[in-house]
Amino acid sequence: MRESWRDRFAETPDVLKSALHQHTIVPVLDFAIGGAEFITMAGPCAVETEHQLLTTAEHLRRTGARILRGGAFKPRTSPYTFQGLGLEGLKLLARARKENGLAIVTEVMSESDVPMVAEYADILQIGSRSMENYSLLEAAARSGRPLLLKRGMVATVADLLRSAQYLFDYGNPQVILCERGIRTFETSLRNTFDAASIALLKQLSHLPVIADPSHAAGHREMVPALARIAVAAGADGLLVEVHPNPDKAWSDGEQSLDFAGFDNMMADLSPYLALRGFAVHDLELAWRKAVESCSLEAIG
Ligand code: PEP
Ligand code: MN
Repeated sequence: MRESWRDRFAETPDVLKSALHQHTIVPVLDFAIGGAEFITMAGPCAVETEHQLLTTAEHLRRTGARILRGGAFKPRTSPYTFQGLGLEGLKLLARARKENGLAIVTEVMSESDVPMVAEYADILQIGSRSMENYSLLEAAARSGRPLLLKRGMVATVADLLRSAQYLFDYGNPQVILCERGIRTFETSLRNTFDAASIALLKQLSHLPVIADPSHAAGHREMVPALARIAVAAGADGLLVEVHPNPDKAWSDGEQSLDFAGFDNMMADLSPYLALRGFAVHDLELAWRKAVESCSLEAIG
């Protein structure tokens, strides 16, 4: 990449790739995000009931998802809609992890909730609306938990990287970036899925990048297509909304897949994931060679 172009991102030195730091791998339970395995995070927009969450977790475990998502604290655009179950939702998530072995990612919205959410979650989600809430970034970073940082809906790639840099500055390098669609003049879908940002982030940064096709699309019919695009763009995994009965969901039902829809999406993705497997393997070989030649130069 041309140096002048990288200069645009000079304010985010710790999140940019360097010769010796090409990938960040974030370990979670017994697997890792940012390595060879494509990681699927799935589940309802919001934790609603024990039955809703546990049936979803059970289904996802059987279909190879690694991480259960579900909001206990919901940032809703309308103040008159469901705001989340709070602590009760966190307890249900912890129960789902205990029963199914899935890791938990859930949003933390306020600085004061960080200790409580960090006690239950394996990964703290910083939502789009909070990407620039610097006191929340500091508290979340200091929790020591891995952080899923969602791109703000009007944030540039440079803005996203600056927020990631804040997390590093607050002592937490276990950062996972998430593209979830941005606002543009195009209103056909809920947001505009910026697939180019995934490719760009993968070129610029060593951090894992997760794609959220659900919030980008806003309509479940479009979610599988955006997921395919995300794989081709180089994403390390997906964050996708799944609900046992999307038409009855308390939030984001229109964009949630039912179990069959999720299974079909994953089946359709499998040839794309196989191709990605070859690409990741080639990249790792190239990287290993580069590291070996660097260390040989250093010895010589
Ligand atoms: C969510 O993941 O349910 C969510 C609220 O996402 P975002 O912050 O991207 O809107
Ligand atoms: Mn949602």
